[in-house]
Amino acid sequence: MVCQTVKAGVECVFMTKKGCGFNGGSCYAIIEKCEGCNKIVESTSGKYCRVYPDPAAKWSVGGCPTASHVKKVKEETSQKINPLKASKRAQKH
Ligand code: SF4
Repeated sequence: MVCQTVKAGVECVFMTKKGCGFNGGSCYAIIEKCEGCNKIVESTSGKYCRVYPDPAAKWSVGGCPTASHVKKVKEETSQKINPLKASKRAQKH
């Protein structure tokens, strides 16, 4: 159902005819680590995540897999430090 509370207008699995069914009856606001992510939605009561109702919990278990701002950094890093590919590339020359 479409959210009628903090993320009004956003389709959400926790929204029911009786109201928000998430723990506490509402989403939790984003945390500092979320800043810069393109999944953030702003409402009059604060900033929330479009994907997860509890961003802090997501980050507490090894980071957020959907974070747009962190993923790019990881991809760049893995490209730079992939010794296997680098050695294969070097052998071709
Ligand atoms: S997707 Fe992850 S990083 Fe982005 S706002 Fe949601 S919880 Fe935060």
